[in-house]
Amino acid sequence: TKHNFSAGPCILPKEVFEKAAQAVLNFNYSGLSILEISHRSKDFVAVMEEARALALELLGLENKGYQALFLHGGASLEFLMVPYNLMKVDGKAAYLDTGTWASGAIKEAKHFGETLVLASSKSENYNFIPKDYIVPADADYLHCTSNNTIFGTQMKSFPKTNIPMVCDMSSDIFSRSIDFSQFDLIYAGAQKNMGPAGVTLVVVKEEILGKTGREIPNMLNFQQHIAKESMYNTPPVFAIYTSLLTLQWLKANGGISAIEKINEQKAQLLYTEIDRNPLFKGTAVVEDRSNMNATFVLTDESLTEKFDAMWKAAGISGLTGHRSVGGYRASMYNALPIESVQVLVDVMQELETSVQ
Ligand code: PLP
Repeated sequence: TKHNFSAGPCILPKEVFEKAAQAVLNFNYSGLSILEISHRSKDFVAVMEEARALALELLGLENKGYQALFLHGGASLEFLMVPYNLMKVDGKAAYLDTGTWASGAIKEAKHFGETLVLASSKSENYNFIPKDYIVPADADYLHCTSNNTIFGTQMKSFPKTNIPMVCDMSSDIFSRSIDFSQFDLIYAGAQKNMGPAGVTLVVVKEEILGKTGREIPNMLNFQQHIAKESMYNTPPVFAIYTSLLTLQWLKANGGISAIEKINEQKAQLLYTEIDRNPLFKGTAVVEDRSNMNATFVLTDESLTEKFDAMWKAAGISGLTGHRSVGGYRASMYNALPIESVQVLVDVMQELETSVQ
C-alpha cells in the first residue's frame, strides 16, 4: 500500500473508491453505469438532493437560509463568480492575501471593481496569517482563504464583521469544526477532502444574492443555479456521486467533530517530530500551521537524495513540496490514516539515526 501525502487530487477513503468504481460498472444495480444514466433520472436526482442536503447537514447549516450547489469550473471559477454575484456596481470588496490562491482570487475581483487588500503576508513568502487589519464596514464582502494549501498555513480564527464573509475552504472543508454560520458563502473545489476534480461545492446564504445591480450570465449566476436545484446544465455526475459517498462516509464515522480529532492527532504527531528532529525545520509560523498541509525543509540540504530515497522506499508518495516553498509538504487530508503519518515520522527518525 501507498501512503499518499499528495496535496490533491484526490485523497478519498478506500471504500469510497470501491463504491465509485462499482457505480461506474453498475449504478444502483440498474445495469447502467453512473456515467451513462440521465442526470434527470430519478436515481441521479436523488443523489443530487442527498448530496446537497448532507453537505449542509455536516456543516451544521441546514434550515438556516443556506443553499448548497455542486458546480463546474473548480474553485478558480468561484474567484470570479463571487465578485460577479456579490460586488455592487461601483461597490468594493475586501480581501486577505494569504497565499497563491488568495492572490488569484484578488486578481479576478479586480475585473469587477475596487478590490482592497486588507493585509498580506506575501513579503514573508506567505509563511503566516496576518491578524492586524480593520475590515471596512462599507465593503460588499470580505474574502478569506481558510487553508493555504501551498504554504501550509491555516486560519485558526476569523474576523468578526457585519459585512458578508466569503471563504475559500478548498483544502480544509469538512476537516475541522468551526462555526460555519459565520460565513455567508463558502466554496471548495472537491478534489482534496470530498471527491474527484470537476465539481465545486458552493454553500451560500440566499439572502446575500441579487443585490449588485449587475446583469449576470446564467451560468455564472448563483440564483439561477439555486432555482434549477444545481442542475442548470448537465452536472458532473460522477464527481457529485463520489462526493456524496465521501460525505456519507464522513457522517457514518461521526462527522466533522470526529474527523477533526484524528486530524489533530495526525498533525501533532508530525509537527512534534519536525520540531524535535534537528534535521528538519517547519516553514510556517508555528501558531498558523495547517493541520492539512505541513510544510517543512531539511536543515542540511545535502541529505535530500538520501531522505527522498528513504521515504519512497517506505511507500510514501506525494511528499515533494510545491516549487514556491521547496522542501516537503505532507498533506494529511481526512482520508489519510494516522498510520501513514507514523510511517513518515519513522522515516524521519531513521534518517536522523543514519547520520549519527
Ligand atoms: N483555492 C485553494 C485553497 C486551493 O488549494 C486550490 C487548488 O489547490 C484552488 C483554490 C484552485 O482550485 P481549482 O483547481 O479547483 O480551481
